[in-house]
Amino acid sequence: MRTRISHACVLTLDDVWHVYPDGYVTVEDDRIIDCGEGRGDGSADREIDGRGGILMPGMVNLHCHAAMVPFRTMGDDCPDRLRRFLFPLENSAMTEELVYLSSLYGIAEMLRSGTTTFVDMYYFEEQVARAAEESGIRAYLGETVISQKSPDAENAGEGLARCARFLQDWAGHDRVRGIVAPHGTTTVSPQALQAAHQLAREYDTILTLHASEMDYEMDAFRKKGTTPIRFLDELGIVDERLLAAHCIHLTPDDIAVLAARGASVVHCPGSNLKAGKGIAPVRELAEAGVPVGLGTDGPSSGNTLSLFDTMRLFPIAQKTRYHDRRLFPAREVVYAATRGGARALHADALYGSLETGKKADLVLVSTEGLSLFPMYNPYSALVYGAGSADVYLVMADGRIVVENGRLTGISLTELKSDLQRAMRPFSEAAEKYRNMI
Ligand SMILES: [Zn+2]
Repeated sequence: MRTRISHACVLTLDDVWHVYPDGYVTVEDDRIIDCGEGRGDGSADREIDGRGGILMPGMVNLHCHAAMVPFRTMGDDCPDRLRRFLFPLENSAMTEELVYLSSLYGIAEMLRSGTTTFVDMYYFEEQVARAAEESGIRAYLGETVISQKSPDAENAGEGLARCARFLQDWAGHDRVRGIVAPHGTTTVSPQALQAAHQLAREYDTILTLHASEMDYEMDAFRKKGTTPIRFLDELGIVDERLLAAHCIHLTPDDIAVLAARGASVVHCPGSNLKAGKGIAPVRELAEAGVPVGLGTDGPSSGNTLSLFDTMRLFPIAQKTRYHDRRLFPAREVVYAATRGGARALHADALYGSLETGKKADLVLVSTEGLSLFPMYNPYSALVYGAGSADVYLVMADGRIVVENGRLTGISLTELKSDLQRAMRPFSEAAEKYRNMI
C-alpha cells in the first residue's frame, strides 16, 4: 500500500533542517520511501491533499502514566497529594479493567494530538500494552517497581517479577517494547533499584524513573549530603539506558554526571509548573550535551496528554527562568518533541524525522485555525499557536489512526461510556478524600 501526502509544508527535522514549503511525503506500508518539494514521482494507491497543512514527524511523549485518567482534576490544588490520597486511592481502587480502559482513553487522547510514540510506567502494565497494541501507537512500557504495596504487587520483589514477565512476554514485538520502571529515588530501595538496573541490562532496554523532582526527595538527599543523581550514580544506574524524568533540581555536578554517562532526561514543564515544583535547567543540560525530550506526565499531573501544550510551556518557562528571549527557538522545541524524544530512546535511526527509510510516523496539522494566521514561521505556529484541535491526520507506523480530526480505530463514545461504568467503584472510593479534592 502506497500513500502520498502532497502540497503540505513539510518540516523534515532531518540533519540540515530541510523544509519543503510545497512538499510531499510518500509512504509504503510502514516506511517513508520518498519526500521532497513538489508532487513526487510515480503513482500512489492513495493521494492525500495536504494543501494548507504543516506535515511534521509524529511526536514522542517520553513520560506518561496513561492509566491515571480517573484521577484527572482530582486535588489539582492539594499539596502532597501523592502521599495523601493518590497512593492510597490507587491501592484501593485501581483494577486491571480500569487500567486497560483508561490507557486506551489516554492513548486516544495522545493519538488525537499527534503523539505516535509514548513511554509509560504504571501498574498492570500488560493492560497498557494491550491497549497500545490495539490502538496502533508505538509504546515503551514499564511495570512500575515500588518498595511498598501497589495495586498489583505487595512489594518491590513482586513488582520486579511482574516487570521481568512483561519483558519476556513482549520481547520482539514491533511496536510495544518492554522497559524497566522503578518508581523513584526515595520510593524504591537501593537493592531493588540495582535489581531493576540488572533487568534492564539483561533485556537490553531503557530504565526510567522519577528523579530530582519532589521537595521531600531533595530534602532526604540533602540530609545525607548528596543528590538523587549522585546516589543513582553510586549505585551504578546512571548510564546510557537511563531516562530520568523531571530532573528539576540538578547541581552542575549532577549535569556533568548525566552527560558523562550518556543518560537522557525527560522535561515535563506542564506537570512541574502546575505543581509549583520549579523549572528544570534545560539550557545547562543542552549545553552539556544531555539529550532532552518532552513528557506530559500523567493525566492528573499535566492534565492534558497533548504535547502541543507541553511544547508551548517549555520555551516560555525556559525564557522566563533565564530571562532571555533568545533561548529555545521554536524549531528546537519541535525537535525536542519529535526527534529529540527518539534520540533519548536511542531510536533516532528508526523514527523522529521525515526521511526516506524511516518509519512512517507523521502528523498533518491544519493551519485553518484562527490562531495560525498569518504564518511567517511554521515552527512558531506549531509551538505557540497550534493545539490538538488543529491535528487533521496522524499516521503511526504507516497506519492512519486519525483522519479529518477523528480517530479511525477507536469509538470515543463507546470507550467513554465503558470507562464511566468501570470508574464507578473508583469514584465511590474517592469520596473518602472529598475534603481534599
Ligand atoms: Zn510521573
